[in-house]
Amino acid sequence: MTVLASGSKGNSTVIASGTTRILVDAGLSCRELLRRMELVGEDPAALNAILITHEHLDHVAGLAVLARRLKIPVFFTESTHRAWVRMLTPRTTMSYAKWMDMMQREKEARALETANAYAPAHTLAAAALEEPDPAQSDLESSDIALDAEDAEACEPIETVAKVKANPAFLPAVEYFQAGQDFCIGDIDVNPFTIPHDAADPCGFVFHARHESIRMAVATDLGYVPPNVKQALKGVDVLLLESNHDLEMLKDGPYPWSVKQRVLSRVGHLSNHAAAEFLLRDYDGGAHTIVLGHLSEKNNLPELARLAAEQAIGERMTLLGNRVVLAAQDAPLDPICL
Ligand SMILES: [Zn+2]
Ligand SMILES: [Zn+2]
Repeated sequence: MTVLASGSKGNSTVIASGTTRILVDAGLSCRELLRRMELVGEDPAALNAILITHEHLDHVAGLAVLARRLKIPVFFTESTHRAWVRMLTPRTTMSYAKWMDMMQREKEARALETANAYAPAHTLAAAALEEPDPAQSDLESSDIALDAEDAEACEPIETVAKVKANPAFLPAVEYFQAGQDFCIGDIDVNPFTIPHDAADPCGFVFHARHESIRMAVATDLGYVPPNVKQALKGVDVLLLESNHDLEMLKDGPYPWSVKQRVLSRVGHLSNHAAAEFLLRDYDGGAHTIVLGHLSEKNNLPELARLAAEQAIGERMTLLGNRVVLAAQDAPLDPICL
């Protein structure tokens, strides 16, 4: 597992086995995602697929441009895909029939063009990294870079016309359903529903079949319901949300409505709630626990770490239950098992 970014300004994590590489969420601009992958020695051209947890901008900001650039499929639930398309085409009120029709036409168009318009992904990725580096986006101090701002730098020339007609154009879309396992290469994926204010949000457990290793991603959840507790049993690496310190959030700068949203059952997990999970429900068997999606305004890394380490207590040893903190502005070193 390599966490490229984690937090409300963008989330993205690489999950890789010996032969398969999956990008979970693409919440930074395409340029920034490519830059971070290069920083950690992750070859974008080696990615097999992008998997989306939910349609919030901090999880999809660079999605369309990156997927078109790398020509790889994007896995969504159908509801999340619809919500994402609606987000990119806000003035369209689309009936379900119309939507199905559009998807069918796109599928046919894709099938037609694969033969002649296919360019190997590695050439494209290499080109992306060789481009000069204008001061394109300042992710840390401004809002999340939108696809539109990213497009000029990263959009492959052959899709520009298509994107004008349909900003949600993707080279390939695959649907999955929460609770129904599927596989990408030699990685089994178990998607589970999480309580969060999005169309159909999911967390994931990844199981590298040949290596008997399980890794989980569980961020953006208001609380830890029984199905999530169950899903997270027996994982070797766990990326768990530890979003805010309750006191800091209550006294912090957010308007009351936003505080209510964060605190709600479909908001984000507090340090306290993450610690409660680690204390009462977690089986203690992980090699590493990564705390993620930390709020920059309502949390401090030391507070998140302290809460988690206290909850893990004596189960923390040299061989297991190492706690690391994922960051917003820099990738974490790869966690290799
Ligand atoms: Zn998020
Ligand atoms: Zn979210």
